[in-house]
Amino acid sequence: MTEVYNFSAGPAMMPKAVLEQAQKELLNWLDQGTSVMEVSHRGKLFMELVTQAEADLRKLYNIPENYHVLFLQGGARGQFAAVPMNLKGKKGKALYLNSGHWSATAIKEARNFIEIDEINILDTEPQLKVNRLDFSDVADQYDYVHYCTNETISGVEIFDIPNVGDTPLIADMSSDILSRGIDISKFGMIYAGAQKNLGPAGITIVIIHDDLLGNARQDTPSIWNYAVQRDADSMINTPPTFAWYLCSLVFKHLLAEGGVKATEERNLAKAALLYDYLDSSKFYHNTVAKENRSLMNVTFTTGQDELNAKFVAEATACGLQALKGHKVLGGMRASIYNAMPIEGVQALIKFMQAFEQQNA
Ligand SMILES: *Cc1c(COP(=O)(O)O)cnc(C)c1O
Repeated sequence: MTEVYNFSAGPAMMPKAVLEQAQKELLNWLDQGTSVMEVSHRGKLFMELVTQAEADLRKLYNIPENYHVLFLQGGARGQFAAVPMNLKGKKGKALYLNSGHWSATAIKEARNFIEIDEINILDTEPQLKVNRLDFSDVADQYDYVHYCTNETISGVEIFDIPNVGDTPLIADMSSDILSRGIDISKFGMIYAGAQKNLGPAGITIVIIHDDLLGNARQDTPSIWNYAVQRDADSMINTPPTFAWYLCSLVFKHLLAEGGVKATEERNLAKAALLYDYLDSSKFYHNTVAKENRSLMNVTFTTGQDELNAKFVAEATACGLQALKGHKVLGGMRASIYNAMPIEGVQALIKFMQAFEQQNA
């Protein structure tokens, strides 16, 4: 079998070493004679696992002590509703920055729970480009400001942190969490579904400043209530134990590989390779401004639907999987999350060169 590289946007590839360890331990976890998914989540061994997982995540991401880490369910979309249910305060209004599909989807969901002012921060002509990150003049009218650090579909990433004064800043980091260093103390809360950079689908990470806990509206369901989940060790209902376990292995793996700094360096190198190639080619086009080019999701097109379809089909046959762009955008998208080795990017570029030669 030829080496397969999986460029899926999510659920996305996992580190091979993690899958191998999970395979090795599957039938007999920690000498229990059972798998990890068959033991009580409140048992001693599983509680040790979650304690270590949180400690590892805190170490990886330099999470300050006055932040809580929650392991929830319902994905990022669940958080689109949970954020306003928990964080609506005296002002009764939130500011949402719109930079594309996911930030817009968050706005739509949140409107059910809070009054929203929306600012479009994305220029689309001549390129996709974020045009504003200073909101210090307006932010104090709002309970919080929400944005998305990486628009997974278009491949637009926001590297600078918006200036919102003292207003809590909330970020959907589903597709770039742990991909590069960030200063957590600049945020009121960040959240991410696990299935891009952290593990399998089914678990959602929330990192939240202590001050923001305990103000949920009265009718917030307990599984969505951050303070309730904090008090219950994120176990107000039975948690997705197997997904939690796999995330714990990913955290350990990232630490062993040198932590977030080393991960960031690898991600910068991978992305540079691919964007440099795209820039050198007249056959493929990427329409994102240089300062907002995602390190995680690289979008490109030949400009012709038929040729794009041919590209995807032939790439798939060569073991380069899941390169078809999202249906709202078309074209191609190579998702090169933490788990993608540089060899995968090199193999993709080699294929792209050959395809260009045959089809230009
Ligand atoms: C994938 C993704 C989502 C949706 O995540 P779910 O876990 O399916 O709800 C939301 N935001 C971003 C930025 C994403 O990449």
